[in-house]
Parts: sequence; C-alpha cells; structure tokens
Amino acid sequence: MKRKNKACYFCGQPGTSLEHVPSKQMFIAFDCDAITVPSCNKHNNGKSGIDEAIVKSFLIAIEGDSKRRSLNQNVQSALKAAAHRFDQVKNTVIRGPFVKNKSDALLSQQTAFVKDNLGIPIWVTQVTAGLIWDCMQDFENGNDWSGADSWSLNYIKQGENGELSEEEHLRIVTENQVRANKLLSHDWIEGWSSFPRKYPSDIYNFKVLFTKERIVFLHEFYADYHWVTGFIASDETRSRIKDKLSASI
Ligand SMILES: [Zn+2]
Repeated sequence: MKRKNKACYFCGQPGTSLEHVPSKQMFIAFDCDAITVPSCNKHNNGKSGIDEAIVKSFLIAIEGDSKRRSLNQNVQSALKAAAHRFDQVKNTVIRGPFVKNKSDALLSQQTAFVKDNLGIPIWVTQVTAGLIWDCMQDFENGNDWSGADSWSLNYIKQGENGELSEEEHLRIVTENQVRANKLLSHDWIEGWSSFPRKYPSDIYNFKVLFTKERIVFLHEFYADYHWVTGFIASDETRSRIKDKLSASI
C-alpha cells in the first residue's frame, strides 16, 4: 500500500487509510472495481459511518419515490441489498411524507429526512474532491474546497424551526426545477469510472462542465438523483481534468 502515506484527498494532511469514491456502500450488489484515494482519519466517511447513513438516505427516498417512477433493474438490486438494513440508520434518517397535511397526491410521496449535521452537501463536495485526487494522483493546493458549493434538485434544507410549510416546499421545488433545467441544458462532458470493471452507470456516473471560473461536477446517483458541485480549480487541475476527459472518450 504505497499510497497510504500520500496526502489526504480533501485536506492534504498525510493519508492513513483509503477512501472509496463514491462510497463502496453504493455498489455492494455489484461486481465492479472502485476508485480509491488516500484519506486522513477525519475525512474517511467510510470509517465514520457517514457513508452508510447517506447512501441509505438516498435509497430510503428512492423507495418512497418508487410509486412515482419505475425503478430500473440495477436500482432495484441496490435497494434489495440494502433494505433489510435500513433500521441501522434510524437515528439519522427518518422516513416520512414529503409534506404534512398534503393536498396533492404527488406530494404525498414518502421521502427521507436527514439530520443537517449529516452534511450531505459536504459529502458530495468530498466525492468531487476524491475524483479530482484520482485524476491528479495527489492533493492539489490550488483547489478551493472550503469555497465549494454542492446543490441538489432532490434535497431540501428544512427551516430552522423544523418542517417547512407546504407553500414553502412548493416554492422551493419550483425554484429547484428551474435551476436544474438550466443546469442540465449545458453541454456536459461524460466523466470517467472505476477500472477495469466500471461502476454500473445507472448506480453512479458523473459529468463535468468547465465555466470561466469554475469546474462543475454533476453527480447522478441511482439514475435519478442529481447533485452538482462547483469549485474554483487551479490551472493545473483544469488542464489535467481536460486531458483525462478527452483520453476517456
Ligand atoms: Zn483529510
């Protein structure tokens, strides 16, 4: 394990373990390889149990959403492999209706509520940082992870005093949809995958966009859940990512 002492993918401190990008919890039902990067103790989400809680929160939301959309074969397999262990995260992930006192059948779907301190946006930023490490094969000081911003169409932050009202939910859902439509309309470049056995792309894939100031990653989990991370990257990172993307076409 000569990579063990290399710099952590997220903070650059000496790595003490390997982190899977994204979590190996996503792929337990599949025969594929994994992207792994060095990690310090603090940023190893596999060890801390954060991976398990977040991956299960995605699956619990998908299960609740399965009346609205039909699930493809791989997503069904992932759900089946994890469903009997949903109880293990019951302290951090709570099942419930999308909105209370619902008046609309579509909004009566069940979803997953996660505690804010679980930090899904930071987790997605870390998946992005892991992929950058994988491309660079080292930690790059010039990338600004503290200023990175991760956002999802499928994630709504609850108000400080608990649940949002139905009106607030609807407003946010509509705003999210407008923002997502705009984002998805860009010319995204297909990302890379694990090697040689790739991740099933309907379980996880990502795409990349270069804007004038930022690199933006679009992560797709379970064929329907989209998260974007934008960050200010060093010139070296921009050019290495571009090279890697054109090599993998
Ligand atoms: Zn670290």
